[in-house]
Parts: sequence; structure tokens; C-alpha cells
Amino acid sequence: MSNKVLVFIDQFKGKAYPVSWEALGAGRSLAEKLGGGVTALVVGSGAQTVAGEAFQYGADEVLYADDATLADYRPEPYTALIAKQATSAAAEVLLFPTTTRGRELAAMCAVDLESGVMPDVTALSVEDGRVVATRPVYAGKLLTKVYCTANPQIVTTRTRAFPMPHPDTGRTGMPTKVDAAQAEGDIPSKVVEYAESGGGVSLADAAVIVSGGRGVSNNPALTPPAGLDEKQAEIWKAQQGFKLVGDLASVLGGAVGASRAAVDAGYIPYEHQVGQTGKVVSPDLYVACGISGAIQHQAGMRTSKVIVAINKDPEAPIFKLARFGVVGDLYAILPPLAEAFKKKLGK
Ligand SMILES: Cc1cc2nc3c(=O)[nH]c(=O)nc-3n(C[C@H](O)[C@H](O)[C@H](O)COP(=O)(O)OP(=O)(O)OC[C@H]3O[C@@H](n4cnc5c(N)ncnc54)[C@H](O)[C@@H]3O)c2cc1C
Repeated sequence: MSNKVLVFIDQFKGKAYPVSWEALGAGRSLAEKLGGGVTALVVGSGAQTVAGEAFQYGADEVLYADDATLADYRPEPYTALIAKQATSAAAEVLLFPTTTRGRELAAMCAVDLESGVMPDVTALSVEDGRVVATRPVYAGKLLTKVYCTANPQIVTTRTRAFPMPHPDTGRTGMPTKVDAAQAEGDIPSKVVEYAESGGGVSLADAAVIVSGGRGVSNNPALTPPAGLDEKQAEIWKAQQGFKLVGDLASVLGGAVGASRAAVDAGYIPYEHQVGQTGKVVSPDLYVACGISGAIQHQAGMRTSKVIVAINKDPEAPIFKLARFGVVGDLYAILPPLAEAFKKKLGK
């Protein structure tokens, strides 16, 4: 590898996370400014399949590694491999998508390579030959510009902050297989088993998210089944509310999100949480139902392109952020809204 920019492509069983291609697109435009090409590195089971695709998304060179030590994700052998490739190529920039793995590996590579990380970046430029990264801070209230004095300059790119490159099927190449950098005996962590979490929620990649908050349980007209205690009755009510949230999400082909209050109250699992301590999302459309719009919730969704808020309280802070606000009861608004979209979209 002789390119200045190296991009880690995060993938699972032969399918790349879309933000990996966004990171590759960002890497490509940096490479053009720095002079030189961009190398993509794909690791783990199914790496070869994804490696083939990486050319179409803009890589000039593609490296892949897939052996028994790398089959199941572990940070140590992945870090060792990425750091080795970055060192041998004297890469000036090392890009990761902001996936859970991308964040972890960026931090570990920074330690191994004695550099720094510019995390969760939303824009990149080159000034005097150095990468300047823009990143939101203070729960998204401010944007800061940072640069790194050491090489490689390590960046994680925020999901949906960079354009998805159009795949060019005419762009092909031969990926190069590289060896793992650590032998099994040198890897301190061992995989016992992988179990399906049953999650399947991909909030980060969703173009439409319909989220519910504490307000979803607030419908005095609902009568819970007999025999439930107060907490169980509240959760039962919340489930009726989340069904309406889910119906709208499904008509719009979107995912279901939630506030932390809804998660903490046991209405919905944590994997749906949006916010400072949940997922940071940036969909084209974010519909907040029964969510007040606390600063910690805003931290996870304020960069959404269009925000719609449905809330009974006209003073709710979410209305300050929303492009469209509907003051009213979500139980009255969501069913006809879903029905209207169904008709409009011919579903
Ligand atoms: C360190 C820290 C980290 C945090 N991280 C997160 C995070 O990641 N994500 C997050 O969301 N929060 C987070 N929080 C919590 C945050 O401060 C708020 O408590 C939380 O977001 C409130 O959730 P909510 O809007 O659902 O509930 P509430 O603030 O209780 O708002 C409920 C809203 O529903 C409306 N409503 C009620 N009934 C109806 C109805 N029938 N129809 C329409 N509207 C109705 C009400 O008017 C109200 O505005 C964090 C807090 C701290 C301290």
C-alpha cells in the first residue's frame, strides 16, 4: 500500500455498514486534496466479498484479511492489523466509520500508533497539508474545528454526515489478501460464543425514524387488562402507544426510536434509545412523539434533516427544534397520519 489515506471498512458477515462507504467517500476526497489515492481495509468473515465492492465505492487499492483469528471480532487482533498496515504504508490519515467497532478501533489504534483521534466528525477539510475536522460538542450545541499534530491523523466519520458515494460498477480491481498481525497465542481475549441479540434495529442507517417518549403511555381513555399492577398497566399502555409509533414507522419504511425516559421506564429496549447516552442519528425525517426534547435527547437527533414534533404541550422544547410541530394527543394524531401516508404512498 502506498496511499496516504487508509479507510477501515466495517462489515459483518460480508455486508458493509453503509457508513463505511460514507467514510470511504470522505477518504477519497481527502486523498484528492492531499495528493494520492485511498486504500480500503476490510477484515473478518466475508471480507473478500466486501473487498470487491470497495472498488466501486471509490477505493484505489483494497486490502482484506480473513483468517481464523479475525473471523469473530476482537479489538486486539483487528487493532494490530490496522496499525501494522498504517505503519507500513506511512499512512497520513486513518479513517473509521463511527460504528461501535470503528470507535473502539480508532481509540486503540491511536494508542498503538501514538497519535490522537478526532471522533464523530461531520466535515473534513485540508489546511496546510493537515486534516481539519469539524465535530459537534456540548451535546451538539457548538461545532469545533480540530486537527491532529501526529500521523496518522485518525478520524471517525459520523453516520449520514458525509454523502454516500454512488457505486460505479465499472470500477473494478483485484483486492490484495494480507496476513493477520497477531497469532492466536498472542491474543489475550477469547470468544466463548456469539448469541443473536434479537435486536435488528438499525437506527443509525435509517432515513426515517419515528420515536416515542414518556408521553406514549399517557392515554387515560385506555383500560389495561385486569390483574396488572400500576407499573405493568403503565407499560401495557406504553406498548399501545408504541404500536402507533411503530405503525407510522412501518408505513414510512423507517425505524422506531425512543427517549431515555421511555427506555428507563421499561417501555422499549435500550437499543432504540436516541440521545447523548443512546444512538446519534441523522435521518432525513425524525418524528418525535410525546418527547419533550431535553438537551440530552437533542444531542442524538438535532442534525436530522426534517424534525416533526407531536406533543400535547405547546411549550415543549422540542418545538423550538422542529420544522413542523403538531400540538395535540399522539393517540389522536398518529392513526390518521399513518392512514393518510398509507393512501398517499399506495400501501
Ligand atoms: C447524563 C444524562 C444522559 C441522558 N441521556 C439521554 C439520552 O440519551 N436520550 C434521552 O432521550 N434522554 C436522555 N437523558 C434524559 C433527559 O434528560 C430527559 O429526561 C428525557 O429525554 C425525557 O424523555 P421524554 O421526553 O420522553 O419524557 P418527558 O420529558 O417526561 O416528556 C414527555 C412529553 O410527552 C408529552 N406528552 C404526554 N402525553 C402526551 C400525549 N398523549 N400526546 C403527546 N404528547 C404527550 C409531554 O407534554 C412531554 O413533553 C439523559 C439525562 C442525563 C442526566
